[in-house]
Amino acid sequence: MNSYAFPGDIDERIMEIGSKPFIYMRTDEFSKINLESEQMLLDLIHCKNGRTIVYTGSGTGAMSAVVENYVSTKKRAFVIDGGSFGHRWYSLCQYYKVDAVDYIVPFAQDIDYEDMEKSLVESGADVLLCQHHETSTGQLFNLNAISEICKRHGVSLVVDVISSFLAEPLNMDELGIDICVTSTQKGLNIPPGLSILFFSAHLKGYTYNHLGYYWDFNDNLDNLRRGQTPFSPATILYLQLHARLLQLKDEGGEDKNIAEIHHRAKVFRAYCKKYGWDIPAQCPSAAITGFQTSDTAERCIFRGLIEAYDTYIMPCGKPGFYRVSHMGLQTDEELRLLAERIHEFEKQ
Ligand SMILES: *Cc1c(COP(=O)(O)O)cnc(C)c1O
Repeated sequence: MNSYAFPGDIDERIMEIGSKPFIYMRTDEFSKINLESEQMLLDLIHCKNGRTIVYTGSGTGAMSAVVENYVSTKKRAFVIDGGSFGHRWYSLCQYYKVDAVDYIVPFAQDIDYEDMEKSLVESGADVLLCQHHETSTGQLFNLNAISEICKRHGVSLVVDVISSFLAEPLNMDELGIDICVTSTQKGLNIPPGLSILFFSAHLKGYTYNHLGYYWDFNDNLDNLRRGQTPFSPATILYLQLHARLLQLKDEGGEDKNIAEIHHRAKVFRAYCKKYGWDIPAQCPSAAITGFQTSDTAERCIFRGLIEAYDTYIMPCGKPGFYRVSHMGLQTDEELRLLAERIHEFEKQ
């Protein structure tokens, strides 16, 4: 199988863990693994003296937790809505009746940062929610610009980095981000099922709300202090996370991983040019390539790749617009072949 959907092709050593017996979770051995994972995660995102929560649940679970426990303590939220993931922040605010401004950014466009700053100030919001990379379009937002605006106006910054973590450079402390959200099936390149929250050291002692029993920050943070989770964890995934973090460390850390992903994106985009596929994102992230084909009626490419080649790419609401993830294992030759095959089905 060749998968260019999330999480993509996964290293065999990580996959093997899933087929082996695993340890009981209420043990010192499991606690030690989790405490080591926490430290490696904080190092990767540059969040000194911060904390993490690793939930059994997909990325949206952790986004929900952020709104329940943290955003709901604020006066008003300002949401950058540049696609379906941005809109999810807004929906979560509505669900929990948090006053929120939906700042809409057109499909695959960058933010007009000057206009955004004006709207933010007018709104009187005290927390900003955004994505680093809006995965539905491939657009990468400028976190330096967003961070400066937030710092200037004393607005707390919460960023969904689910599809940019380990694919784009990210320094949480330098950017002054209070909370980052990620999950396992994107840049970490292990199976879906865990989501991770990073808390800046600034939030030590913060008084959170308690609107969701399962996702409660205090309960989870207290338990994780000793390497445990309040409820049954997806143990195998925690073991795969730990093994993957050790592997990343062994293989040269986040810079090496980011460079590799950027290389793959560059290789594939040369074929997009060759076959005439437009990449609409104004500032495309290397995490995925979102490209427009002429396959607008029948999804021939998507079905054709599965049926003939056992290969997955990601379709999207917009006809003929496909996304190829670069966060799974893939060689230059595989990317060449993928492009050739997409071209083959586009002509049909
Ligand atoms: C994948 C993703 C999510 C989370 O989706 P889940 O299906 O809940 O894991 C959230 N935000 C972004 C930017 C994503 O790419």
